[in-house]
Formats: sequence, C-alpha cells, structure tokens
Amino acid sequence: MSEEALDFSDPMQRPRFTGLASFFRLPYQEDFETNPPDIGVIGIPYDGGVSNRPGARHGPREVRNQSSLMRRVNQATGLAPYEGVSVADIGDAWIKKPYELEGAHREIEAKFASLHAAGIIPLTCGGDHSISLPILRALAKDRPVGMIHIDAHCDTGDNYMGSRFHHGAPFKVAVDEGLLDPKRTVQIGIRGTLYDRRMWQFSYDSGMRVMLIEEVEENGWRACIEEAKRIVGDGPIYVSFDIDSLDPAFAPGTGTPEAGGITMREAQGMVRALEGMDIVGADMVEVSPPFDVGGITALNGATIMFELLCVMAEGLKSGGKG
Ligand code: MN
Ligand code: MN
Repeated sequence: MSEEALDFSDPMQRPRFTGLASFFRLPYQEDFETNPPDIGVIGIPYDGGVSNRPGARHGPREVRNQSSLMRRVNQATGLAPYEGVSVADIGDAWIKKPYELEGAHREIEAKFASLHAAGIIPLTCGGDHSISLPILRALAKDRPVGMIHIDAHCDTGDNYMGSRFHHGAPFKVAVDEGLLDPKRTVQIGIRGTLYDRRMWQFSYDSGMRVMLIEEVEENGWRACIEEAKRIVGDGPIYVSFDIDSLDPAFAPGTGTPEAGGITMREAQGMVRALEGMDIVGADMVEVSPPFDVGGITALNGATIMFELLCVMAEGLKSGGKG
C-alpha cells in the first residue's frame, strides 16, 4: 500500500480507529429521502421481542464500531460494493414508544415503507429477530418474497406468553400475512432443544425447506446453499441472518445461543454463494453486546453484513432491483 494511493479526504481510507463509527465508515445520511442511496445500511436498536437474554438493542452501535475494520474490497470474491453503487449509513429506525411490541413494529414498518418508496434497498442490523416481520411488511406488501434464512431456530412459533410477535415467530406471521412464500423459503442451521417435537411444525407443514445442522455437517454447506438457491429460484428474495446460527464459539454475544453451530467460514461461503440472486433486502440480527466477549460477535456480525453488502451491490450492478 503506497501512501500516494490513499485519499485521506475519504473517511474510508483514513486509519480505521479514527473518527465516528458509521457502518463500514460510510457517509452518515439520516435524511435519506433528499438524495437516496441505492443501498441503505440501517440499524434497529430494539429488543422488545426477546424470549431470553436481552441486549440486542445495543447491536447496531457495537456492529458500527466493529464494522470500521472493514476495508473496501472483498479479497475472496474481488467484489467492491462501493464501486458504481451508492451506499450510505442511513441511521437507526429507533422506536419512539418502545414499551409495546406491536406498536414498535408499526414504527419500524413505517420507516421501511418510506425508504422502500425512496427506492432504497435496506441492509439492516438488528435488533432482535422480531424486526424482520415489519421489514417484510414494508418490502413484500405487493407480492410475497422467498427467503434464505440462516439461524439456529426456525422462528415459526406461535403464541408465547401472550404474544405471537416475539422473536421466535416472525416467519409464521409473515406467511400468515402473505408476505413470505413458504415454498420459496429455506432455513439453514437449525438445531438445539425443543419444548416439544412440534415446536417448528409450521415450517414443515407450510412447505418450507428446513436444513438441520446435521444435514449441513453431512452434505456440506456448499451443497446446502446450492439446493437452497434452486428452491428459491430467480424471484425476489429476502435474506435473514441470525448471528446465533454461528456456533457460540464465534458468537457468544447473543440472546439464545445453541451449541454445535456453523463456523464463520461456512457462513461467509453461504452468503458469497448468493451472488446473482434478486435480493430485495437483508438483515443480520441478534448481536447482544452485553453478552459478547472481546467484540467477536459484533465483528462477525459486521463481517456477515459486509458479505451481504457485496452480493447486494453486485446484484444492482447486474441490473436487478426487486
Ligand atoms: Mn432468529
Ligand atoms: Mn436464532
């Protein structure tokens, strides 16, 4: 790296420990409507839907911090998401009335409806997984989308302690509301203990393809993601990455960790394999910094977001836009 090659007027080329931490050191642009970027990276600092350990409301702040380590070019794939595509940190969808889950979801939906209307493709940092539902309400209002969902949990539960909008149920509600096509939905990395054998029955009954972690181990992540791509096909898809899909060795800082998960390299490989797909939006959720160790969960979350950003930007360059 020669000194002449660096342009210090660009914050992304300054030393990575300097300045304020926006996502990936992108320009911070809360007013996204005046000059909307192609892709908006946005935080949802909300964890009112968690069933176990809270703290994901602190996710966006810490992921922004760790994401300042990301440079501009993906060495593995050669992809450079900022070349020819405008990307900005468009701030947080923070909740004005956080003490009521369904109201919080309405606030999130309104924010995402306005950025969707502005033509922005969102890359979201949660927050707990309940936030995927209001995002889908905004992005899939006109037609159901398919989904690649990487998680330890299917998140297709139902009523739990008086609510069906908690972080273990967003994708059942999304199917019920016609936002998600279950036959074009693949869930990868599922594992752990159940309250009863039918806990994720909705996934199977509705026609989702569920890949348990044992299948990922047996057949390998490449075969799994290739089958997932065949199932979701060419139509619009949403990508949802729950950080608890990673083994707790890679992601201790999360609300509902499950031992025996995928490695970070497997996760990166699967996200990279999504290049060329019609991605209408993506999220990375459930990083809970209070339970993190040395920032590794937030770093891995930021890294997954960068991988997502690379394939989303590449999709725009090759012409697709939801
Ligand atoms: Mn989840
Ligand atoms: Mn999970």
